[in-house]
Amino acid sequence: MSKIPVVETFVDENPAKTNLLGMSQAVLAAFFVGLGEKPFRANQVMKWIYQSGVDDFYQMTNLSKKLQDKLARVATITPPTVKFKKFSEDGTRKWVFEVAGGSLVETVLIPADDNKQFGRKTLCISSQVGCALDCAFCSTGKQGFERDLSASEIIGQLWVANQSYMQDVPIAERQNMVTNVVMMGMGEPLLNYEPVVTSMQLMLSDFGFGLSKRRVTLSTSGIVPKMYDLAKDIDVALAISLHAPNDALRNELVPINKKYPLADLMAAAKAYVYDENPRHKKHVTIEYVMLKDVNDTDAHAHELVALLQDLPCKINLIPFNPFSHAPYARSSNNRIHAFSQILSQAGFVCTVRQTRGDDIDAACGQLVGQVADKTRRAQRWQQRVASHTTA
Ligand code: SAH
Ligand code: SF4
Repeated sequence: MSKIPVVETFVDENPAKTNLLGMSQAVLAAFFVGLGEKPFRANQVMKWIYQSGVDDFYQMTNLSKKLQDKLARVATITPPTVKFKKFSEDGTRKWVFEVAGGSLVETVLIPADDNKQFGRKTLCISSQVGCALDCAFCSTGKQGFERDLSASEIIGQLWVANQSYMQDVPIAERQNMVTNVVMMGMGEPLLNYEPVVTSMQLMLSDFGFGLSKRRVTLSTSGIVPKMYDLAKDIDVALAISLHAPNDALRNELVPINKKYPLADLMAAAKAYVYDENPRHKKHVTIEYVMLKDVNDTDAHAHELVALLQDLPCKINLIPFNPFSHAPYARSSNNRIHAFSQILSQAGFVCTVRQTRGDDIDAACGQLVGQVADKTRRAQRWQQRVASHTTA
């Protein structure tokens, strides 16, 4: 399959200017009041930024020339810098962003199988540079952690992805093309709580991207206290990266389990689904990576059924995506099928994630970037790999 690498750069000409991208509606309204303007200007400008993909104040035709001049002097609309992008023939698109500090983070757009122009297009967004949690099967975790992304760097990933469809379309005819967002790129979103929630509010807002709440999913490895906060603060779909049906195995695969064990995680998941207001019933998906001979036996499937008995949820089985020197292998298709049959027979809706974007290294869980590790984990991992390769 052919790949079309294109280089593009966004230059922030004046870093002293205020970046309006990623500002919550309330903060933007306060910004306009501070300029001596009416707060409703925030709604107008948000529509230009998020719905029309406009980053030039002089194209915002419902603002006076005086206000356009004022904004151009003090403000900017600046997404993170696109270092390069790769578009695959199956419709998968990947962007590598260079964020302040020089690290690279990845964003991937995966279209529905039929790749129709107006079909489902799911964007997988990163929330941190690297990840501090070191799950045993995750290449992001092996790189260590550098820093949280800002709200402009998070929502900027979606803005740039939409831009890639809008570029040749007249402003009046523009519409957002990304239909679904999953916070499943690099990082643990609940450990970068406020910028992530602000970004998701902008995704849902009628003045923002206007996505439906069922089409925005946050994936977490199980930061229990923040799951309770999330239930109060925003209504989005939740994916829980479970990967093991008992504490002993989960401690090994997802080390944060030692801090927030399964009993606490299941209680938080139930609280998330059963909101006090029945109209706010929320959706939970359990994610389970299929690791050959590690967590994929019939006995594990039965244990999983017992664990999830009282939790209304869907289960998504993820075939393991191998990376260099990973200590695991992907379960066979037959094993994944047998495992899913046990779950389906117990009454769960169970899906198996299709791996897409392999040709541009864009499969989920393979988002690697380049992290200036502050934890020295990448170094330890490389030493371990070296000692294995020379042994
Ligand atoms: N930190 C969050 C979100 C990012 S990871 C979380 O852990 O949920 C997104 C998903 O990819 C998670 O379900 C994660 O467990 C899974 N994943 C990570 N590495 C993987 C790999 N090598 N193969 C398949 N899935 C992987
Ligand atoms: Fe971090 Fe998620 Fe990877 Fe675990 S699976 S190391 S939480 S990104």
